[in-house]
Amino acid sequence: MTTTRSLCYKRHMEIRHLLSQLPSVDECLKSSYGERWLASFPRKIVLRALRETIDSKRKEILSGKTPEVSLDAISNDIEAAIKKHSGYKLNPLINATGVVIHTNLGRSILSDRAIEHVVTTARSYSNLEYEISTGKRGKRYSNIKDVIKELTGAEDAVVVNNNAAAVLICLDTFAKGQEVIVSRGELVEIGGSFRVPEVMKASGAILREVGTTNKTHLHDYENALCGNTALLLKVHQSNYRVIGFTEEVPVEKLVKLGSEFNIPVADDLGSGCMIDLREYGVQGEPTVQEVVKTGADIVTFSGDKLLGGPQAGLIVGKEKFIQKIQKNPLLRAMRIDKMTLASLEATFMQYLNEEKALKEIPTLRMMTEPVEIIKKRAKKIYTSLKALSDRAMIAVVPDESQAGGGSLPEINFPTFAVSIKPNNISVNELEKRLRLGASPVIARIKDNALLIDARTVQEREIKDLVRCVVTAFSD
Ligand SMILES: *Cc1c(COP(=O)(O)O)cnc(C)c1O
Repeated sequence: MTTTRSLCYKRHMEIRHLLSQLPSVDECLKSSYGERWLASFPRKIVLRALRETIDSKRKEILSGKTPEVSLDAISNDIEAAIKKHSGYKLNPLINATGVVIHTNLGRSILSDRAIEHVVTTARSYSNLEYEISTGKRGKRYSNIKDVIKELTGAEDAVVVNNNAAAVLICLDTFAKGQEVIVSRGELVEIGGSFRVPEVMKASGAILREVGTTNKTHLHDYENALCGNTALLLKVHQSNYRVIGFTEEVPVEKLVKLGSEFNIPVADDLGSGCMIDLREYGVQGEPTVQEVVKTGADIVTFSGDKLLGGPQAGLIVGKEKFIQKIQKNPLLRAMRIDKMTLASLEATFMQYLNEEKALKEIPTLRMMTEPVEIIKKRAKKIYTSLKALSDRAMIAVVPDESQAGGGSLPEINFPTFAVSIKPNNISVNELEKRLRLGASPVIARIKDNALLIDARTVQEREIKDLVRCVVTAFSD
């Protein structure tokens, strides 16, 4: 009993002693270390790093550990914390998943031309809402309207923050308190937060579901028409497909029905494909131009899916409907900023030359790149990793990539990947090390191998990628 008590007492004294040796924030700041840190980093960040490090040492001591606590001993930890806090939290990474429009990884990456236009526009004042010819106030969307009209064939266009907002403002403008007819086969959920029935509810429109999950006929729409019908809405199934015994009503037929009863028709396309990608193996994705041509009154699509631009929601269609949307006060709450406008304008301008667009808009390039070129890139990565051949089995393997972003779920694009099977660590450990590295590499695991899909690795990233893989093996 006495022994236990004296032991306890001894521990207690040890802990007290260690705690008393922990330098205070003030001591750290006044030391030569502190002077150096304050000279190179913001005081707020130095203070945060000091408090954090000292606190974590205190916790270690209280939990029974005996860490070195002199300033010399903890200065490395403090410095690491300072570096961590003074860096950005939003950072580039290497997408080796093969998913081109990866929503979690920022969807589309911008073309050089779009980036340049953003930079020049952001650096200077601009005619964002200023009409140079008259010296009067101009409209934010007039600068981009013409090129969108020219490319899509639509009478008019307006742009909001994203496609979810585009759908919402359409419903709010045309169908508040009234019924919107939608096929049960098109009540989609896109990536969690966009669900057609819920957007409908949020807008105050009343969802009138028709048909069944697999089959909806024109007469289903017809039978649902009533005095309170405000809109016929078609929604692109985007991230899923109903196959087998199915039927949906093409937008042409809805347009005909709508015009008979004087009810507008909206088509939410989701992706917004501007170039016919059939020859690249992309079937069944209607282009914006085709849908506009059917006479649909309103067509909505995303800026950062197949279009390959910044996050935005495009609304194109008949002038009288777009004008009505322009007058909706909600538009102000959904308006895009000048940087989005600049990158969107540049992206659209690139579509004026389709051949160049396919090469220079990264999303389009990655979607349509010939598989031999992808193979070449995979081989280049593979060759640079030769030095690791005693630590892993490495090979170039054929595989399949995905469009992503809720686009073209049924299409697998043939690709080539570098497959890495590590000898001494698990494949999960390798995946984790790459993800947590100084410049993160996001890859996928398949059949117990790590796959680096060369489709989404940019040429300029290869050097970095190789260094990251080598580092992941070096511990
Ligand atoms: C992606 C998608 C949306 C949402 O678009 P965001 O730009 O992500 O807001 C809406 N409808 C459809 C059909 C989509 O595919």
